[in-house]
Amino acid sequence: MTAHNQSNTTTDCKTCPHCGNEFSGEKGLRIHMAATHDEETIETVRCNWCGSPIEVREWKTDQNHYCTRSCGVAWTTYLKIGDRHPNYIDGASRGREFHWVAMAVRSRDGECVRCGRERSSKDGRALHVHHIVPEKEAEDPHDPQNLLSVCGGCHRTLEKLAPKEQLRECDIDSLEQLRLRGEAAEWVSKYREQIEVFASAPDPWPGMFAEAQKHLSKRSE
Ligand SMILES: [Zn+2]
Ligand SMILES: [Zn+2]
Ligand SMILES: [Zn+2]
Repeated sequence: MTAHNQSNTTTDCKTCPHCGNEFSGEKGLRIHMAATHDEETIETVRCNWCGSPIEVREWKTDQNHYCTRSCGVAWTTYLKIGDRHPNYIDGASRGREFHWVAMAVRSRDGECVRCGRERSSKDGRALHVHHIVPEKEAEDPHDPQNLLSVCGGCHRTLEKLAPKEQLRECDIDSLEQLRLRGEAAEWVSKYREQIEVFASAPDPWPGMFAEAQKHLSKRSE
């Protein structure tokens, strides 16, 4: 017991070269030296997302670093949704926004809006999310009010009908019925905000992918 304590003390104890105060670790000493003696150890690290150099205090080097807020949002979102990140996959096309909006629309409807099935077909896959006005023609194709959850069979039926006929077919009197509410609405608007931030983030630096993998594997341990 005593021997153990002693060895801990010898290994971890740090002494301030200016005033002789002792600290239990490197970090404590550095905070003290910065606060009391105005002496900071500056180190250059890379922005996690874009790789730009950033100067930081050395005892913080194992933390995440971002040069701008948009780099921070891009990085943390990458860790969450991986290669669905809109900034470097296909932000220009369908965007990955659709993935999120589709989930919100499924939670709004809960079942096929035409026939009430809860799953797409016998294989039990999630309901399709159908665009009332086709994606290429709609002004805002992923507006939840342009989207319906449908099973595979009803999807084929609706594809053949004009928008107004589709709504009649599904007993939807007004698009107001399709407005997202509560959590689903918040979720989508928050995601849309993020998309705007991504749009202003630079491209990821080549080393970002390997760094992200390291973070993800640490997290899953
Ligand atoms: Zn000191
Ligand atoms: Zn950056
Ligand atoms: Zn159906």
